[in-house]
Amino acid sequence: MHRRTVPCQYFAPQKIEEALEILSKYGKEIKIIAGGTDLLIQYYDRLYEVNGWLDLKNISEFKKIKINKNQMIIGAMVTHAQLEKSQDIKKYYPVLSQAAADIGSPQIRNRGTIGGNIVNASPAGDLLSPLMAYDAQFRLLSTQEEKIVPAEDFFLGPKKTILKPAQLLTQIILPLPSERTYGSWIKVGKRKALVIATITLVLVVKMTEDNKIVKDVRTCLGSVAPTPIEIKEIKKKMAGKNFDQLDFAELGQMVEDKISPIDDIRGTREYRKDVAKEIMINALEEIGSARRLYK
Ligand SMILES: Cc1cc2nc3c(=O)[nH]c(=O)nc-3n(C[C@H](O)[C@H](O)[C@H](O)COP(=O)(O)OP(=O)(O)OC[C@H]3O[C@@H](n4cnc5c(N)ncnc54)[C@H](O)[C@@H]3O)c2cc1C
Repeated sequence: MHRRTVPCQYFAPQKIEEALEILSKYGKEIKIIAGGTDLLIQYYDRLYEVNGWLDLKNISEFKKIKINKNQMIIGAMVTHAQLEKSQDIKKYYPVLSQAAADIGSPQIRNRGTIGGNIVNASPAGDLLSPLMAYDAQFRLLSTQEEKIVPAEDFFLGPKKTILKPAQLLTQIILPLPSERTYGSWIKVGKRKALVIATITLVLVVKMTEDNKIVKDVRTCLGSVAPTPIEIKEIKKKMAGKNFDQLDFAELGQMVEDKISPIDDIRGTREYRKDVAKEIMINALEEIGSARRLYK
């Protein structure tokens, strides 16, 4: 197998501005590296060639989780372990915390980052559907411009996003949810450890003040399409209804009918459709129980 013999350049700036300058100068020739848990495997498989690395590990600003007015700002280099353990993430976005806790092994959670999970854009990326369900926006920066884009506009297909070579993903911005917001995260995979998802489902339900009527809903799934998807028909069906009068079986069936997954080594199309229905019903039951506890 061909191995590179000339040394390639390696940059590890401490400031965002320096990183952006390096990117604008070297553009496509250079590869951004965060935790390296996706990248290095792809590199050793020779899925691409690189002439240099831009390592984000020294940019301390990227490693913070902070609340700014009514938003949570998560730096792109925040690891899965940080997401899993942060009290603020647990409080406001429990589904994101649980999804992070379900990723890989402790080693992967300590190295792998939210930014890497997003930009890698695997249909099985565990954080993608929780981020969509919580209305996340991504802050993209280059030396030329700043763009804030909703998560649902970012993904184009497996490993394809709208990110340009001169752009960095710097922050993930989440609106703080209203008090009566409930969430459920379900990941189905074949093994107990190091599971790559066969299917994931996130249900986030916002209730009215009296905790009876559904105000808003996001139903997002991973591993059933080239990108994470939302089943918008569920929102239409549930909004304005009394939660106790919802027909869970009908809602589960809607999810099954609206997805068109493919067969792959992790599961057949039929299996994924059947499971999608069941986990939607489970998610509704889980939210129903959490709601009753709150009364
Ligand atoms: C054994 C194993 C188990 C795994 N299990 C899971 C799992 O259960 N669930 C799951 O979702 N994933 C899993 N993964 C995949 C991987 O760990 C995650 O996707 C992780 O979040 C990637 O983050 P990273 O920081 O390592 O990204 P990297 O590998 O460093 O980068 C990934 C991609 O994102 C780009 N990138 C990174 N940060 C930025 C940025 N700020 N701006 C622009 N581009 C950027 C890189 O150039 C690269 O293209 C697993 C991987 C391994 C090896």
